[in-house]
Amino acid sequence: MPELPEVETVRRGLNQLVRGQKITAVSVRYERMIQSELAEFLQFLPGQTISEVGRRGKYLLFHLGRKTLVSHLRMEGKYHLFPSDAVPVGKHFHAFFVLSNGQTLVYQDVRKFGTMVLLNQADLTTFFEDKKIGPEPDAESFALQPFRQSLATSHKKLKPYLLDQTLVAGLGNIYVDEVLWLAKIHPAEIGKNLSAQKVATLRLAIISVLAEGVRRGGSTIRSYQNVLGLTGTMQDYLKVYGKTGQACQRCGRQIEKIKLAGRGTHYCPKCQKLKKV
Ligand SMILES: [Zn+2]
Repeated sequence: MPELPEVETVRRGLNQLVRGQKITAVSVRYERMIQSELAEFLQFLPGQTISEVGRRGKYLLFHLGRKTLVSHLRMEGKYHLFPSDAVPVGKHFHAFFVLSNGQTLVYQDVRKFGTMVLLNQADLTTFFEDKKIGPEPDAESFALQPFRQSLATSHKKLKPYLLDQTLVAGLGNIYVDEVLWLAKIHPAEIGKNLSAQKVATLRLAIISVLAEGVRRGGSTIRSYQNVLGLTGTMQDYLKVYGKTGQACQRCGRQIEKIKLAGRGTHYCPKCQKLKKV
């Protein structure tokens, strides 16, 4: 599943390729993917110019004047760009945006979990507030105090809590394991057991791991490839994710894999001990 670094990499790729392009025609093959009114989607988009591709958490934002197309890739959504007269037949191609430069942006999604919503620009903030999407994981947006407050009263296990996007946006199964390893926190630790200093360490680990992921163009793991087949290199720098049985780079103990809230979870049993309370 693409996490923030992969989505950010897709955003940057799309910005280079489609910013400033006018959409001349649209077609949708898998209509259930469109979560706003389909008729409006098909009627509004032709004639609109993509002024910018933005991002909020793991959502891509195609800004189109007074409206914005919000796209979530979920498990395996991908964008491809083809010359309009040479779009291959693709079984999992679900949406087609014909552009004024003779190319067509195609949305592909094998699992069909991805979504698109057309929103008024003015409703964007409310949309993300309703979904309880937390702040962006950068030093300015992601303030320590509210993070500390949320954790201080929480009985939730940290990994699933960090995955639910309410504390901070962008973490998925790979990066959350990396963050907890870096901060030396057990994935099943309870929020309220963390000292003020550990919370500060955790916040900095989230900011730095996701920033490193962005810098390395995301990770290319399993079937996930970003737009145009560009491949990130973050997978070469992971410390625990997918490293079951290998030596911890910090202490040498073997990395273990457990199931936590249904997710495969990698951690070092020596560096990341559960706090005794
Ligand atoms: Zn270790």
